[in-house]
Amino acid sequence: MATLFRTTGIILSRRDHREADRWYSAFTDGHGKVEFLARGGHKPLAKLTPHLEMPAEIDLLLVDGRQYFTVASTDRVRAFPNVYADAGKLTLVSGALHLVDIGTKPHETDPVLYDELTRFLAAVDEAPALSAERSGFLLAAFGLKLLAIIGYRPELANCLACKDALCPGSYRWYAPKGGVVCDDCSTRDASQWFAARPMKDETLKLIRFALAERFEHQLRPHLPADTLEAFHEAVESLIISHFPTIPASSLREACIA
Ligand SMILES: [Zn+2]
Repeated sequence: MATLFRTTGIILSRRDHREADRWYSAFTDGHGKVEFLARGGHKPLAKLTPHLEMPAEIDLLLVDGRQYFTVASTDRVRAFPNVYADAGKLTLVSGALHLVDIGTKPHETDPVLYDELTRFLAAVDEAPALSAERSGFLLAAFGLKLLAIIGYRPELANCLACKDALCPGSYRWYAPKGGVVCDDCSTRDASQWFAARPMKDETLKLIRFALAERFEHQLRPHLPADTLEAFHEAVESLIISHFPTIPASSLREACIA
């Protein structure tokens, strides 16, 4: 027998199904990522969908029909109107929602991730207009926090091999193992670490900052072009190494509206 349940969530993605129906993926506070079908039928889908088509926190009444979920009703809990009104912010938020969509497995409840996602939406909503560079930085910062929450927190302080604290200017970046390895270890065991890449102190500093600080504090620091490029490469290498699916576009390209 079908059962009804209520949950609060944020729509991550959508795709059309047949003529009148649409599948949605949502990240919910109580059930993690869920997929559900919105049926058009003879009732206009538009009555349900306004809340499902824009970035918002919504109350969902879902029907568990054993094979799949369908949505019975929706109600908006919290809107992010400045995101919806600004093409650049909307692109940034879509990029972040895409990362959550491809980085999480269905039905794994994660209240920490839910909070981080709503904090991110609120911060982007309240932020002043964002440059493409700043948006790209924020998207990568979100990606780093997401990696940490889903179990891939990068090692940024101690060598992955010998566990000693890093010395400035004498370490390399190795994404498959998720962090930094000291020069001594990478030379000693060159066959294991041959793919480790040089990294500058400024880049590591920016990665630490992006992972640790709240989004509100990430609007200020100056972002030199070469440091930002190295930062993006490092975060993307982590995502490619650890996500089950590779993002649809690079973190920088995702923010060029
Ligand atoms: Zn070492």
